[in-house]
Amino acid sequence: MGSVGLPQFNVFGEYYNTIDGKLSSTQETRHGINPATGKPNAEVPVSTEQDVDAAVNAAKKAFKTWSKVPYAERQKALRDFADAIEKNVDDFAKLLTQEQGKPLMFAKAEASSAVTWIRTLSGFEVPEEIIEEDDTKKIIVRHTPLGVAVGIVPWNFPIQLACGKICPSVVTGNPIIIKPSPFTPYCDLKLGELAQQFFPPGVVQVLSGDDRLGPWLTAHPGPDKISFTGSTFTGKKVMESASKTLKRVTLELGGKDPTIVCPDVDIPTVAQKVATLAFLNSGQICLAIKRIYVHEDIYEPFLKAMVEFTKTLKVADGMEEGTFLGPVQNSMQYEKVKGFFSDIEKSGQTVAVGGVNEDKPGYFITPTLIDRPKEDSKLVTEEPFGPIVPVMTWKDEQEVIDRANATRMGLGASVWASNLDTANRIAMSLEAGSVWVNTHLELDPRAPFGGHKESGVGFEWSAAGLKAYCNSQTLYLKKKA
Ligand code: NAD
Repeated sequence: MGSVGLPQFNVFGEYYNTIDGKLSSTQETRHGINPATGKPNAEVPVSTEQDVDAAVNAAKKAFKTWSKVPYAERQKALRDFADAIEKNVDDFAKLLTQEQGKPLMFAKAEASSAVTWIRTLSGFEVPEEIIEEDDTKKIIVRHTPLGVAVGIVPWNFPIQLACGKICPSVVTGNPIIIKPSPFTPYCDLKLGELAQQFFPPGVVQVLSGDDRLGPWLTAHPGPDKISFTGSTFTGKKVMESASKTLKRVTLELGGKDPTIVCPDVDIPTVAQKVATLAFLNSGQICLAIKRIYVHEDIYEPFLKAMVEFTKTLKVADGMEEGTFLGPVQNSMQYEKVKGFFSDIEKSGQTVAVGGVNEDKPGYFITPTLIDRPKEDSKLVTEEPFGPIVPVMTWKDEQEVIDRANATRMGLGASVWASNLDTANRIAMSLEAGSVWVNTHLELDPRAPFGGHKESGVGFEWSAAGLKAYCNSQTLYLKKKA
């Protein structure tokens, strides 16, 4: 571990860990791959256990003072941090496209929404509540910071998801160590570097590494809280590891979102929207539409409209103008998505559109709709996390609600209908953390975000989400002896 002073901030400069207010390099380095070209990106640190110890110690030291800094000052530091990200949005977006693969316009939208998230979440407070007060006593509930938090981030929204953890942690007085995915470390390392201008040493730190780093952090006795976003499979491992030291955990996990299309919808409009919300970010969104249930009366024209629209979506390098689908983010994910195609071929399912891998360097997959696969098929029951979606029919309202809910996942769900009474009634029967009518995926940082069932534990964002970084403390105070 060697450290250097803070250079002039440049998103495309060199990439360092941030430990105790300094930029820090490691003996061993590695690199991510630009998924559109297959070419290597810049070298990044591979943190060691000593780096983890150093970051945890710095965070523990920082906690002593940062937790005492007045709330308004912590809010101001976050607002200044958001302003600085905003000034660099265009560069962050380019770097994001280069490391993650998403089209530049969506990369810019992600970086900008991170700014909105920080501004909104830093505006919330966790006020004391007075339970009872009379001449002799006062009972107060207050929310005190937990200590040191670790934020573990996946590769699909590295900027937005890191900021969605940094802000609530830091504003409530907890230093945080961010661990990006090894596939997408670049923007997060630069967020860490930028943060050093606004926070004291040890308050916001970012460590990049290989597959050993996450387990080291969750097992380390120092941190008090793990906020994890990623797959359900890994989330279970994180919870198991955190249980050894009873760290608090918030888990934001996988999804298998159903959408129900009623017979009275305007077919051309809704078909386009549903396909868009299934294929955004090449389907690599926890909350993307992953199962489409269309009423049998409109099934054929609705599927046709989705197919025609899907054919118009440009699949290319995210740097190219007009690209709607960039590549799948990494080779592991590419192979996983191709596994779904093999299963479809083997079981003779009907491909309505797509179904081929693009003949290009990089991990490109054509957006694909599968016409009425069996309800127990791999595609209907598992999360491909790629641009391949099953379309099924339904007839009876209760039956489609039961099918939509027949999953261990419960992240998002939606219903589309012109008759809003019908739509709202169906929406209220769906088992998911976020449920939409006539849209999907439209998130608001003022609202809690989390999953039901195996899609998560706890929730993030919103004023209430700040409490996930706090202990609840009840004070039974005396006013008279
Ligand atoms: P992943 O679970 O493989 O990895 C997520 C993060 O965990 C990465 O930083 C990874 O390095 C780290 N990690 C891996 N093994 C670990 C371990 N044993 N201990 C600690 N950390 C470990 O997920 P992914 O493939 O990066 O992301 C895709 C998944 O994430 C999908 O299932 C998707 O639905 C889900 N996701 C959920 C949300 C949400 O908010 N609910 C958001 C985005 C993605």
